[in-house]
Formats: sequence, C-alpha cells, structure tokens
Amino acid sequence: MSMVATEADLAEQIKTAQGPLRVQGGGTRGLSGVGEPLSVSGLSGVELYEPGALTLVVKAGTPVVQIREVLAAENQRLAFEPADLRGLLGTQGAPTIGAVFATNSSGPRRIQCGAARDHLLGVRFVDGQGQVIKNGGRVMKNVTGYDLVKLMAGAHGTLGVLTEVSLKVLPQTEAEASVLVSGVDLASAVQTMSAALGSPFDVTGAAYDPEAQVARVRVEGFADSVSYRAVQLQKLLAGFGEVAVEEETSADWADVRDVTAFAGRAGDVWRVSMKPTDAVAAAEQMQADALQFDWGGGLIWALVPEGTDLRARLSVPGGATLIRGSGETRERLGMFPPEPAPLAAISAGLRQKFDPRGILNPGLMG
Ligand SMILES: Cc1cc2nc3c(=O)[nH]c(=O)nc-3n(C[C@H](O)[C@H](O)[C@H](O)COP(=O)(O)OP(=O)(O)OC[C@H]3O[C@@H](n4cnc5c(N)ncnc54)[C@H](O)[C@@H]3O)c2cc1C
Repeated sequence: MSMVATEADLAEQIKTAQGPLRVQGGGTRGLSGVGEPLSVSGLSGVELYEPGALTLVVKAGTPVVQIREVLAAENQRLAFEPADLRGLLGTQGAPTIGAVFATNSSGPRRIQCGAARDHLLGVRFVDGQGQVIKNGGRVMKNVTGYDLVKLMAGAHGTLGVLTEVSLKVLPQTEAEASVLVSGVDLASAVQTMSAALGSPFDVTGAAYDPEAQVARVRVEGFADSVSYRAVQLQKLLAGFGEVAVEEETSADWADVRDVTAFAGRAGDVWRVSMKPTDAVAAAEQMQADALQFDWGGGLIWALVPEGTDLRARLSVPGGATLIRGSGETRERLGMFPPEPAPLAAISAGLRQKFDPRGILNPGLMG
C-alpha cells in the first residue's frame, strides 16, 4: 500500500504508476479489486473554516468524525447526513470526507436538502496522468464553466483522486421530532410518507420499517416550529394508522441512515433507488429476506441470500447497487447498475479524457 503525504507526492505516484491503482481513503468500504492500493488518508486536515460564510475547505483524507467535531464546536453540521456503513459492511477504519464525495453519500435528509454533491463547492484533484486540477470555488456563485465539481461527486475515484474539497455547511438544528405511524403495510406507508412529503411542514426524513410496520417522518428546526409542525403532521396522518410524536430521535435516524437493522445478519445487501410509487411492486419482485425503506419509499435496502442477482428479479425502472457481497458476487454481478448506452458512452469518454491509461480504480464502474 502506498500512502501519500502531499498532493505533489500523489501526482508523482500517479504520473509514474506502472499499473492500475486502487484509490482509498479510510478503506472502510473494504473493496478488493485490481490494482496497487493508494491511500490518501495522509492528506488530512482543515485548510480553512469560515463559520460565518458556512464554508469549510478540507484535505480529502480528513476523517468525517474530525469534521463533525470541528463543525459541532461552532454549532454547525454536514446537512447531507453521510452514512457510516462500517457496521453494515463489518469493516473498520475512519471514513474520509473525500470518499464521502467520491461515493456521493447522503442519508435520509436527501429528500429535503439534496445529496453530498449539492453541498460541494469546489474540488482539487489529481487526474489519471498526474495533473493537478482545480475546479469550482468556495462559494456557490463562483462555480462556472465545465462542472468538474459535480462530475467528481459519485465518480468513485475513477476520474481522479480528490485532494481537497470545499463544502457548504449548515447551522445545527435546534430541535427535532418524529411522527410515527404504526400498523401500516407498505402500500399505506408509501401513501403516508407521500402525504407528509407533499405537506407544507418541511419534512426532512420519511422512512418505513416493514418488520415493525412503522412509518416515521421527521421535522427539524426551531423548537416552536418543530412542535407546531409535528402536531399538524399528527393530524394530517391520523387516518393512516396509529399516530404518535417522539422527540430526541436522532439515534433512530442514524439507524435508518446506516441500515443497522442488517448489520451482522447473513446475506448480501443491495441498495435500490426508484420512484416511490414503484416501491410496492419492487418489494414484491425482490422476494428479499428483509427490507428497509427510506426517502419516502424511493430508496430500498434489501437483504437477500448470498449470490442472488437482484437486478434480474426487478422489472421496475431504477438502479440496484450491490453494497455488501462476496468478491465473487461483486465480480459476477458488478456493484453498480449498468448504465444506459448513451450515458455509458459519455462516462467512457470522460474516463478517456481524465484517465486515458485506465489506471484509476479500473473495472469498478464498468
Ligand atoms: C458499493 C458501495 C457503494 C456505496 N455507495 C454509497 C452511497 O451511495 N451512499 C452512501 O451513503 N454510502 C455509500 N457507500 C459507503 C461509503 O463508501 C462510505 O460511507 C464512505 O465513503 C467510506 O469512506 P472511506 O474513506 O472509508 O472510503 P474508502 O473505502 O476508502 O473508499 C470508498 C470509495 O471512494 C473512493 N475514494 C476514496 N477516497 C477518494 C479520494 N480522495 N478521491 C477519489 N476517490 C476516493 C475509493 O476509490 C472507493 O471507490 C457505499 C459503499 C459501497 C460498498
């Protein structure tokens, strides 16, 4: 494993690489795959933090936990709720901010405030030829021209290795509450969540646990506003099932975000996104051992027997990513959903431009 200490080191390593490289932050995703491991966890630390401007610039290998601490000291947070899948994946290490953006990680709040990508203001990265590229700025309005910022988020390290990210942060919320609707099947849960999300009460989470038959929706903000909106939602959702309001539910939302229900349970784990209105049909087609729903039904986590080709069971449009599975299954099925031909051509063109030798995480994204 190569560990780099500076961006210049990284550029040199990539420029002189003789074969494929497997880019790593904290390595908590536990991927095997081809290539010499190349870790950026040595590129760590806060470069600039301006709480008044809600802006943070950090080196890409900085642990997320450290960023959370720095922000908490100023009563701020990462609004997009990046997941911590170590429990689910059974891995150790410290998830890094560069990897959060490389995987476009985002939790339950995505339905209200967007994905990681939407909070990324600027990037520095080293491309597959060892060139240092900088794009974007430190404030949203400076982002002009070729939008490499958006391209790098979700590229899983296949277009370049991030060395620094500038991001938008938000103030901590003062209070939160969850409205729980019990005794609902999946079809009613989707309707319940859709009614909540379509209301003016600014819902920041909508999840469903089919084993407990409980749908939950979250509101956050100033304490008075949270109480008011929770009561209004309670009234709105009363027709769907038995309704209750709970406060201090952040641990429950962390469980939704990190899919802790499947941690330690045998089987493969898939993450499938689709239209919430297709969730009922998709759930039937999956024939899964267990399911969890987020994003109002637009995100399904499925636990299935090892080696199951979940994509072959699904006819509804959507994307199924294999999050946890053996090396053999990953190899056979591919982790990411196949891209439609026009999109695949664009992706291949971008990879040709940024990594013409095909050395950055080859094979990871098809
Ligand atoms: C198949 C799969 C898909 C995932 N997708 C999501 C998701 O959609 N949403 C979510 O919340 N979580 C997702 N995760 C979890 C996510 O990977 C982790 O939450 C977090 O990113 C891990 O941090 P790390 O530093 O340990 O990453 P690592 O395990 O080190 O790396 C994760 C990925 O990011 C790349 N990467 C790491 N650092 C850099 C860098 N500086 N520049 C460029 N690329 C880099 C790696 O090559 C690898 O592909 C996924 C996990 C898996 C197994």
